Amino acid sequence: MADCLFCKIASGEIPAKKIHEDAHAVAFEDINPQAPTHVLVIPRRHIPAFSALTAADGETLGAMAAAINAIAAERGLTPDGFRVVCNNGRAAGQTVDHLHWHLLGGRDLTWPPG
Ligand code: AMP
Ligand code: ZN
Repeated sequence: MADCLFCKIASGEIPAKKIHEDAHAVAFEDINPQAPTHVLVIPRRHIPAFSALTAADGETLGAMAAAINAIAAERGLTPDGFRVVCNNGRAAGQTVDHLHWHLLGGRDLTWPPG
């Protein structure tokens, strides 16, 4: 999509600290990290929000999940645990209208979230 920040990061038009790229998913460091590891994983294709997903997006979702698990394992987060967050819509705090999962880890995370 023409005027989408994360589409521009996926295409390379806007720089980001990319960690992973494949045909379906891209991962990069969050610009304002909330934990020692704070990575965003996005679909390469523009999907505006979690609520836009359907069963037809299985391949994309699988690639996103595999990217998260690979990054968590590389960083040694898997034994202790990590969190995957998706803010969907205004009330949940979504600020960028391109689906993204936050991978957070490297410290103890509290619950419930704010
Ligand atoms: P959300 O509030 O769930 O929509 O998350 C959006 C996330 O994108 C926030 O954690 C921001 O810090 C992050 N973010 C915004 N702009 C950039 C950017 N140019 N590069 C990396 N992360 C960004
Ligand atoms: Zn987009």
